[in-house]
Amino acid sequence: MRLGVYGGSFNPPHTGHALAAAELIRNLNLDRLLIVPAANPPHKTLAAGSPTPEERLALCRVAFGGIIGAEICDIEIRREGKSYTVDTLAALRAQYPEDELILVMGTDMFLSFSTWREPERIISMAALAVMHRDDKTATWDSVVLEAERLRRELGAKVIEVENRCEQISSSTVRRYLAFDAPDSLHPAVVEMIRQKGWYLCGADLKGLPYEQMREISLSLHDEGRRSHVLGTADTAAALAERWGADPDLARRSGILHDITKALRGKEQLHLCARYGMMLSKLQRENPKLLHAKTGAVVAREIFGESEDVVNAIWWHTTGRAGMTLLEKIIYIADYMEPNRCFPGVEILRDLVWKDLDAAIFQGLDQAVAHVRKQNCPLDPDSLSAWNYYRNNTERSLSL
Ligand code: FE
Ligand code: FE
Repeated sequence: MRLGVYGGSFNPPHTGHALAAAELIRNLNLDRLLIVPAANPPHKTLAAGSPTPEERLALCRVAFGGIIGAEICDIEIRREGKSYTVDTLAALRAQYPEDELILVMGTDMFLSFSTWREPERIISMAALAVMHRDDKTATWDSVVLEAERLRRELGAKVIEVENRCEQISSSTVRRYLAFDAPDSLHPAVVEMIRQKGWYLCGADLKGLPYEQMREISLSLHDEGRRSHVLGTADTAAALAERWGADPDLARRSGILHDITKALRGKEQLHLCARYGMMLSKLQRENPKLLHAKTGAVVAREIFGESEDVVNAIWWHTTGRAGMTLLEKIIYIADYMEPNRCFPGVEILRDLVWKDLDAAIFQGLDQAVAHVRKQNCPLDPDSLSAWNYYRNNTERSLSL
């Protein structure tokens, strides 16, 4: 019997996993594919608020239920400690002594295979099957090279699987769930998640105290953006003190301003569709610029923030003519918070305490020049903001 072993966190299991399972069974001509959710993955820590291992197992039963040949295996869930693949394979080898085991993995896991616990022993127990991606990226060339090395040096049996795949990640799916815009999930999986309130799905996040909102916001960002978001919140609060705005609203706007930034273009469009947002041609063609708009909608619909906060987030990338004090503060705090590094930032950091409008104009002027240099289309709101603050600044200089 040809037995595939498909492990993962499945946090949560999505349609990309289900498609991969169906493709593996067909392409590898498997008699059975064991889906093995990890209790405690050695390579990563699970996102905060994730369901327990037993609950992920229950989600897997639903997500893979319709795939003939797929079988959910609780071997890692029942075992204590870290879920090392070598231990799983040894147990399966004992359980299925006559069968051919094929260990399935994605390209990133395959490329780090040498760092796994006892790779030689794994190779002695199972063939390795690497799942292909639709796009033939440079990564695949590295896979081919690594496969050759493992065959030559360790006598590994490596199979390159020609499979269709869906470009979706569990972290994106988790963000969609928190933003109440589920996608790429089996409807019964969504139902179960919603009922249990996992991944913040359906949770009441309106009017949370700042500390709690901060933790949730940080959990929805990529690692690299967290310090920027914190820097923006703190700078905005300090500027609010200086210029007479509400520091609490400034801090809340700052911590939420990039809340949807981790979503890519296609994902931004999904969120816009979920909330019925009308888009201009420029926005449809440059969906990466949409995070300010989707962030504002999430701030209102999910976090229940006031219109002042919502507007400050809405305008934070483009600015606009005649911004409110809070809008100006978020625009400029985002631009010059302590993690930002570009020529002239120190001058801006100095100016912002002395003349807020002059700092806004300087920020807009640099942003507009940058867009022009990149030969990108200029947002009409940025242009009208630039004109407005240029006139304002000139007027104040002439007084
Ligand atoms: Fe932003
Ligand atoms: Fe930002």
